[in-house]
Amino acid sequence: MAITTLEQLSKYLDLTEEEKSWKPASVGVPLCITEHYLSLIDPKDPSDPLRRQVVPTCRENENLQSESKDPLAEVDHSHGERLVHRYMNRVAFLATDICPMYCRHCFRRRFTGNMMGSASRQETEEAALYLKDRPQIREMLLTGGDPLTLSDMQLDEMIGTFRKARPDLIIRICTRYPVSQPSRITDRLVAMFKRHDSAPFYLMTQFNHPRELTPESIRAVSLFVDAGIPALNQSVLLRGVNDDADILEDLCNKLLFNRIKPYYLFQGDMVSGTGDFRVPLRRGMEIEKELRLRLSGLGMPNYVADLPQGGGKVPLCGNYIIEEPDKEKGSWLIRTPEGETRILADS
Ligand SMILES: *Cc1c(COP(=O)(O)O)cnc(C)c1O
Ligand code: SF4
Repeated sequence: MAITTLEQLSKYLDLTEEEKSWKPASVGVPLCITEHYLSLIDPKDPSDPLRRQVVPTCRENENLQSESKDPLAEVDHSHGERLVHRYMNRVAFLATDICPMYCRHCFRRRFTGNMMGSASRQETEEAALYLKDRPQIREMLLTGGDPLTLSDMQLDEMIGTFRKARPDLIIRICTRYPVSQPSRITDRLVAMFKRHDSAPFYLMTQFNHPRELTPESIRAVSLFVDAGIPALNQSVLLRGVNDDADILEDLCNKLLFNRIKPYYLFQGDMVSGTGDFRVPLRRGMEIEKELRLRLSGLGMPNYVADLPQGGGKVPLCGNYIIEEPDKEKGSWLIRTPEGETRILADS
């Protein structure tokens, strides 16, 4: 059974004062920790990086002026409550607001964990109709919440509705189940996706720390990859969890070794109550620079920020161009990752 109260949690962990004084916030996610994830937490370490991701503290109750409920302006880009159309060629469908376990850093906390449940048949059909009329939309993120909280049968019906409208739509299954409760992922679930194979599926995971990659989670992801569904990982850069080049290097190498391509490393969004997790941008860029030296191209995630007021995602990689060419010379002055300079001529 999952842990949903501080009282239950105190049987497993000696709660700190900051943890004990957490109050559920109006814009916040509930307390819920799966048995699986709890078993990975070191009870002797109050600053365990896994514990930080799921055990709330009173620092969640602090709101900064620069933070807001919905910095990505998802509501402004929504069609109905569930479909977010921010980019021309791709959309996000919020299949449910429920997760099997809630991350304290959740960026979609305006929506997540409000106990609304899964999208109704009508909401799904309206979203499918929207997609049917817009062939320029080529990809859909099936997200939430965690879409795999739906039963296999509900998912089958939901995907069937989208597939009927758009057999050519690439669907990304965005889920943290391989981390939170890998036993949810079964041959039956993967076979259900495969029955809707008129266009590809991609699995998008969220591993933030190498200790989350357990034999069970690796098995769960393998079921997808073995079935021909590629896996990509989106980590969030989190203070006291993974704001360290050694940890991220280890995470990315382990992901790659287990056929999960590191895709994004997100700068923490300016969401209310998540200040405790935010890493200064300069520090993030230092880590990114260091990772670029240590990781292969395949193992290197893109460090990105999703800008406030719905500005969208931008890469935050270092600038390697020192000087653009003047008209006569036509040569660029460029910095190497090691910090030397080279000239790259246009012709
Ligand atoms: C991040 C995001 C996407 C996907 O963007 P990619 O850069 O293609 O991964 C799509 N829709 C919304 C609303 C998003 O926030
Ligand atoms: S799994 Fe995703 S939606 Fe659910 S709480 Fe974590 S970050 Fe939020």
